[in-house]
Amino acid sequence: RSNAEKFEFQAEVSRLMDIIVNSLYSNKDIFLRELISNASDALDKIRFLALTDKEILGEGDTAKLEIQIKLDKEKKILSIRDRGIGMTKEDLIKNLGTIAKSGTSAFVEKMQTGGDFNLIGQFGVGFYSVYLVADYVEVISKHNDDKQYVWESKADGSFAISEDVWNEPLGRGTEIRLHLRDEAGEYLEESKLKELVKKYSEFINFPIYLWASKEVDVEVPADEDESSDEDETSESSSSEEGEEDAEKGEDEAEKKLKKKTVKETTYEWELLNDMKAIWLRNPKEVTDEEYTKFYHSLAKDFGDENPLAWSHFTAEGDVEFKAILFVPPKAPHDLYESYYNTKKSNLKLYVRRVFISDEFDELLPKYLSFLLGLVDSDTLPLNVSREMLQQHSSLKTIKKKLIRKALDMIRKLAEEDPDESNDKDKKDEEKSDEDEKRGQYAKFWNEFGKSVKLGIIEDASNRNRLSKLLRFETSKSDGKLTSLDQYISRMKKGQKDIFYITGTSKEQLEKSPFLERLNKKNYEVIFFTDPVDEYLMQYLMDYEDKKFQNVSKEGLKLKDSKDKDLKESFKELTKWWKSALASDNVDDVKISNRLSDSPCVVVTSKYGWSANMERIMQSQTL
Ligand code: ADP
Ligand code: MG
Repeated sequence: RSNAEKFEFQAEVSRLMDIIVNSLYSNKDIFLRELISNASDALDKIRFLALTDKEILGEGDTAKLEIQIKLDKEKKILSIRDRGIGMTKEDLIKNLGTIAKSGTSAFVEKMQTGGDFNLIGQFGVGFYSVYLVADYVEVISKHNDDKQYVWESKADGSFAISEDVWNEPLGRGTEIRLHLRDEAGEYLEESKLKELVKKYSEFINFPIYLWASKEVDVEVPADEDESSDEDETSESSSSEEGEEDAEKGEDEAEKKLKKKTVKETTYEWELLNDMKAIWLRNPKEVTDEEYTKFYHSLAKDFGDENPLAWSHFTAEGDVEFKAILFVPPKAPHDLYESYYNTKKSNLKLYVRRVFISDEFDELLPKYLSFLLGLVDSDTLPLNVSREMLQQHSSLKTIKKKLIRKALDMIRKLAEEDPDESNDKDKKDEEKSDEDEKRGQYAKFWNEFGKSVKLGIIEDASNRNRLSKLLRFETSKSDGKLTSLDQYISRMKKGQKDIFYITGTSKEQLEKSPFLERLNKKNYEVIFFTDPVDEYLMQYLMDYEDKKFQNVSKEGLKLKDSKDKDLKESFKELTKWWKSALASDNVDDVKISNRLSDSPCVVVTSKYGWSANMERIMQSQTL
């Protein structure tokens, strides 16, 4: 093209495209849902802008918020068009040439070693999946603020952009034309496209149309030779029929004789989805399968793993909203890596079915950022800016309710997990239902346990609720996970405190001299082996009126009547020890009943750092 400007792809994009072009990955279907998802995003954006400025939508067809799919079998072109926000020339260069999202190189690396492209949408590079099926792609786009442009690339390291002087004006929006590879012929089949839309895009909130062929019956003259002549006479006779009723029957019969019915192909826009807003429906009428499918489309993860739990509810009162929350089966790869500098919430916010944003940090606290879902509120105003919405007082109420519901959902996950209960004698009919839920909480804990701990640290008002969700191993748990409630139910008579110890691993802790005496006396001790546990225990002071006692710290009280006598008789020795160890090394030397085999042990003062904490702090400053 004479007026084309050439650009190089960012190196990382180029690398990704190479992998996509050369991949033997069999599930190439994913490109369609990525394009539809982009079209839907673009429509969401223009609809949002139109809330405060109706003019923006334009007039006539341009104002129609829909997605259209069209096929050109001869030229082997599949095109997807939307009337969304469109892209300016600058947008085209930036959005379809560089990668904005971090973590993409991790994805690229994974793909190089034969990973699953299914997750491509999560990494913000879904568009490039078009090269799974096309060897040449044109993106025609028109944004309200710019002229119409064509972006094109053959995935050869570069792309070109030209002002569009060839195609018909789009009004506004984007049309993606895929020149399909020979081996991607199946995507020229309407049935295939219908199947894919049904499978992957059923929850898209805009109508998706396919320019679909339809066989219709048409009458043609029976005898080819007389065709044009007969046609005219029969038409004219039918217009006169009203006046000559008596002759009608005869006329009709005559016509039938001379005509026959044949199939002819015509085209029309066929609606492929029913725009289910699942969250507006009554939860009782939504099946598990529907929730699961909805989760997959939200998560942009169409693997076979299902969400661990979900909660679908309506909040009433001052602030009305509907919401669905999901616990994903797996933590995202960077959940804790970038905990303090990524966005908090993965919830989509809608106001009266209009998508507003998925970057509203005000909806959930950071420690619940692993949840997926959406909120649709009737109370929030529609015609204000995002910034003003962000400060709306209702958001606080929404957030509070969402946290409650989220914690309830997680608690229920534990309650329904047979592995969690001590109740062994359940009826048989409950068994099969049980098996599905068996081990689910352990799975949750494995993936998101750290979030619960961060919650205890960060959210004082829900500390108790979160503490109930804690799981850990203990000196008596036999490799199984235990809760605080279970620990308390097993406490010895007269035991006042909850005993715990921190360290790097269970194996290390099991050998600790601090446990000798406690083990002998049959006390259970909680093992905390995650670095975050040290911080956790600075916030978790008590639970159900019981104090936490670190058994490696001063203050451990095990009842023993001989204590006083012993203290007296060894007074001189402890004095000597204290003077022998310089006073800036130890605070005190005491007789203790916490040991049984080891002769002595170094104990941390009540408010001092445990040895484990010293270790953690050291590793952080080094
Ligand atoms: P993501 O959708 O996760 O941002 P993609 O690779 O799918 O990643 O798309 C990259 C970007 O290209 C989008 O963020 C968007 O800005 C732009 N884009 C893609 N398709 C369209 C479209 N149909 N209309 C407007 N912009 C689009
Ligand atoms: Mg996308």
